[in-house]
Amino acid sequence: MIDVTHKGGCHCGAVRFEAGGTPKFVARCHCDSCRRTTGGAFSTWVGFKDEQVTWISPPAVYPSSEGVKRGFCSNCGTPLSYQSAQWPGETHFLIGVFDDPRQYVPAGDAFADEALAWCLHRD
Ligand SMILES: [Zn+2]
Ligand SMILES: [Zn+2]
Repeated sequence: MIDVTHKGGCHCGAVRFEAGGTPKFVARCHCDSCRRTTGGAFSTWVGFKDEQVTWISPPAVYPSSEGVKRGFCSNCGTPLSYQSAQWPGETHFLIGVFDDPRQYVPAGDAFADEALAWCLHRD
């Protein structure tokens, strides 16, 4: 993965962020909570350390469960980010909110036991 500045934002442009360096991970999540809060059959997350991340205009925050903050745009409704006490010091972004999502390739599946059967990736 190339060491570049990663840029992204919501659909209407009110929320924007940048992240520097290399993502810590790229992975799909099949948990019920991600499914419900994004509306997608599964979610693909690009994770960074907080110190790599700059919010140019920050999101609204929804606490989807204990210790979890999900960032979204209060104007257009786009879900963008995830922070959890379980992974302190990290901000995870949904792959679809990056300006260039094609550069990220997920390396695994989290919560595969909660997946919709047809969503599990097989190489
Ligand atoms: Zn927006
Ligand atoms: Zn999840």
